[in-house]
Formats: sequence, structure tokens, C-alpha cells
Amino acid sequence: MTDRLYYRDSFLYDFDAEVREVLLSPRPALILDCTAFYPTSGGQIFDTGSIRSDASAQLRVIEVADAEDGRVVHYLEAPPGDLKAGSRVHGQIDASRRRDHMQQHSGQHVLSAAFLRLYNLPTISFHMGDDYCSIDLDTPALRKEQIEAAERLANEIILENRTVDIRFVSRDEAGKLGLRKLPPSERDELRLIDIRDFDLTACGGTHVAQTGQIASVLLRKIEKVRQGWRVEFVAGLRAVATARRDFTRLSETAALFSAHIYDVPQSARKALDEIKLLRKQHEQSQEELAAAYAAVLLADAPEASGLRIVVHTLSGRDLNFVKRLAQKLTRLSPGVVALLATTSPEPSLVFAQSAGQPFDMGALMKETMTKTGGRGGGTKDLAQGGIPNGDGIEASLKAVAATLRG
Ligand SMILES: [Zn+2]
Repeated sequence: MTDRLYYRDSFLYDFDAEVREVLLSPRPALILDCTAFYPTSGGQIFDTGSIRSDASAQLRVIEVADAEDGRVVHYLEAPPGDLKAGSRVHGQIDASRRRDHMQQHSGQHVLSAAFLRLYNLPTISFHMGDDYCSIDLDTPALRKEQIEAAERLANEIILENRTVDIRFVSRDEAGKLGLRKLPPSERDELRLIDIRDFDLTACGGTHVAQTGQIASVLLRKIEKVRQGWRVEFVAGLRAVATARRDFTRLSETAALFSAHIYDVPQSARKALDEIKLLRKQHEQSQEELAAAYAAVLLADAPEASGLRIVVHTLSGRDLNFVKRLAQKLTRLSPGVVALLATTSPEPSLVFAQSAGQPFDMGALMKETMTKTGGRGGGTKDLAQGGIPNGDGIEASLKAVAATLRG
């Protein structure tokens, strides 16, 4: 078993050790007699850093994991060269990463205790990510006031700069102390993290020595999950970085509206209402325009044996407008075939016939697509297609009209 130096001192960033094993596959790794590197466990993620000896170059430690037999495995970026069992080495932990983890993890203890003290809501799991952390609370509901009160209490405890002690006790003793959480482990000795007069829990992670070192806890999104409610939070410098990022985004958004950041919701709501109204007005205009357009086109189309074939190419009109126009045309009169196209924004064709006409618009469209290299199809009465190039579009329509006229 590796002696875990971080159990007694979370602020130990460098240490001397002896190599016990050199592993080469599946990944190069070292086992040491003792280590200050924290392996991923209990929701907290691993430390990174370096290991070197007098003879070897500096080796990057890129991941640290717990083996089942109690050894701590230090995964290296590259094979460890001349190092072998018995070599003396010096380990150095990435201190800013460790400090961040201590802030997040200790922040979690304070926050979990705050929810328990205020509302009797126990924490059932803790997750630490690269961006944010979260706890899952065992509760069917969570109110905004509860979030705000727990955040407030947690920050007050941080401000009071309470001492955080590490204690080792037997499982029997621990049972009498009223811990917030007692792990279901077989081990007889338990490591307790004691935030003076506020929280006592069993935990193997790295924590600050005074709550003031957590600096702050900022609660973020809450979300219903299967086992209760998930509360996202950030602590320490992450809280400052997150607030800075939020402010930058909000300022950018406010500038778009030429508004103060506090007026962004109101400005956004107003803009959305305007868009809704304009959409409605646009829809109505398109409908009226298509109806008027259809009447003019139909009046110009010559009639031959009860059939009027309307052939027309538009530009600057999208496929939706062309379809709308085709529907107006074929409903205005019972004997209409509309062969319509638009050259822009995207070259497209629409073929339609009044209900009861004998042709097959879908088949005609398929034929036209084969000739023009486009894609499309449809039903017997209405078909549409898009083509890569609008140059020959008018000629295509005329060719289709010619086949219909026989
Ligand atoms: Zn902990």
C-alpha cells in the first residue's frame, strides 16, 4: 500500500519517495512507497505534476489513480527511462490545480452541511468537473429561496474563517460522533474532516485548513435528476472566473440591445415580441401578395381545351413563396397547371395542378431533376425540386409545358 502523505497535509506540494514498481504497459506508470499525489476518488479528480530523480529527466504525471490493492498509480506522459525499483525520486504537484480542487471540495462540504442544517436535505453524491462541480440533494423539490439561503450560509461560514481539522478515529468512535456521512467501508480507522462547530464528515479528499481559503461559493444551475435535485456550483477562483465570463457575455448581449446589463431580459422580451408580430404581418403580406400575383398570372395565361398552363420564373423568392403561389393558382380555377420556378436565393421548381387534372406532377418533376442534376419529387398534384444551377431553368419549364400540350 502506498503511504498517502496528503492524508495528513493537503498543502504538501513536493515530497521525496522511493520507486517501488515501474509499469510499462498498458501505459507507463510508477508506484512509489509514499505520495502526495491525490488519485481520483470520492468525487474529487486527480492531481497532476512531475516526478524526477538525479539521473532522469523530469517526467510529467498526467493522471493518478487508485489501484484496488491500495497502491497509488502515477501515469506518466512518457516511459520513465532509467528509473527502476529502489530509485530515489522527488515529486512535485501542480499547486494551482491542487488549490482549486481543495477550494471546490471544501466548498462542497460547507454547502452540503448548509443544505442539511437549513432544510434537512442530505447530499447523496458529489461530482467535480473541469468547469463546475455539482451535488445531488435527496429531495423531491428545491426552491429558489432555499438555494439563496444555502449559498448565503455557506459564504458566511467561509467568511468566519473556521478551522478545518483532520482527525483519525476508529469506526466505533465515529459512530458516536454524529457524522454527516459515514462511508460503508471495511476499514477500521476513519479520516474525519471537521469544520469547527459546523460540519463533521468522513472523507479521504484534500481540503483547506481554514474555511477562508475557500474564498467563496457561487451556486449556479439546478436541475431535476432521478434521485433528487442537482445543484451546480463553483468555489474559490473558479467563482471569480465564472462571474467574469458571465459578465463579459452579458455585456456583449447588452451592447447588442444598447441597454444596461440589468435591462437585458426586458430588452430581449421586447425584441422577441416584435419578431412575433413582424412574422405574423409578414405571413399575412405573403398570403396577400401570392393571391394578387396568382390572379394576374392566371389572367395572362391562354386557355386551350379547358386547360390553362401557367409558366413563370421568379427571382428573389424562396421555395415557400413559390409553393404558396402554386397553391393559389391551382385553387383559383379547376383547370390549371402551374409550372413555376425561382432563380434565387436557391434555384427551385414547383409543379402543381388543380385537383382532378390527369397529369402526374411528381413524375414530371423526377424527369426534370434527372435532366438538370437536381433533387426533388412529390405527389400527383404537387411536386418540388432544387437544382444546382438556375441558368436553364426557364427552358426546363417550357419543355415540360410542351409535353403537357402534346
Ligand atoms: Zn472531502
